[in-house]
Amino acid sequence: MNSIDKNIVVISGPSGCGKDTVVKKILSTDERFVLSVSATTRAKRPIETDGVDYIFLTTEEFTTKLANDEFLEYTNYCNNYYGTLKQQIEDKVKAGKVVILVIEVEGAQNVKKVYPDCLTIFLAPPSLEELERRLKNRGTEDESKIKQRLFKAKEELGFQSSYDYIVENNYVEQCAQSIIDIFDNRD
Ligand code: 5GP
Repeated sequence: MNSIDKNIVVISGPSGCGKDTVVKKILSTDERFVLSVSATTRAKRPIETDGVDYIFLTTEEFTTKLANDEFLEYTNYCNNYYGTLKQQIEDKVKAGKVVILVIEVEGAQNVKKVYPDCLTIFLAPPSLEELERRLKNRGTEDESKIKQRLFKAKEELGFQSSYDYIVENNYVEQCAQSIIDIFDNRD
């Protein structure tokens, strides 16, 4: 296995399944792991910090980076661009870290093409009803955006079997530990 691949963990899962909370738990539990901070054109949520949760860009800034071949992968999700910057991976792996990418299914497939031995994990919600409840409770999207994200979620659940592992997110701590265990015990 080449050394970059083995230091990349890709985590996907439908919006509202708790990916960010689980990943924050992993990062605070185990200092081997760091986050690949994605670039996005989506509006910043009040709880988010530029450069920490995302690198927030205008569409023009995003397309300039795209033209300069700065992205490992990118996608358009619910009318916004999201992309993984090559530099995020290269710098962090060089620094001896394991980089976690929290990205949607199309991006995960594209990363797997470049780094075939990276570890891919699909985080599944206990049920679609629970997913809807979590999205509504979160209060970061209005009714029409929630509908759009639930539609997308159903589509994304169809891709679960293409991942190396599927982990159900019932309890954050348990789920974070399962992911660390999978990482430590893989071939
Ligand atoms: P959100 O708007 O909820 O933060 O993210 C929407 C979706 O975009 C989530 O599934 C998230 O994992 C995904 N996403 C975030 N960053 C990236 C990225 O760099 N590339 C891709 N392909 N998806 C991303």
